[in-house]
Amino acid sequence: MANPEQKKCAHPSCECLAPAGEKYCSQLCEDAGDDEVEIACDCGHTACAA
Ligand SMILES: [Zn+2]
Ligand SMILES: [Zn+2]
Repeated sequence: MANPEQKKCAHPSCECLAPAGEKYCSQLCEDAGDDEVEIACDCGHTACAA
């Protein structure tokens, strides 16, 4: 079972889990912010590589 402290990255196009206490999985997602723009996540994690 997943760590309950893990939450999904706040980037709407990102399927990654953010580290505990972090809102985004990566700096890249943080820079992208919570834009509603439907751009693909480019964080490089396998969950988003599709
Ligand atoms: Zn991602
Ligand atoms: Zn992310």
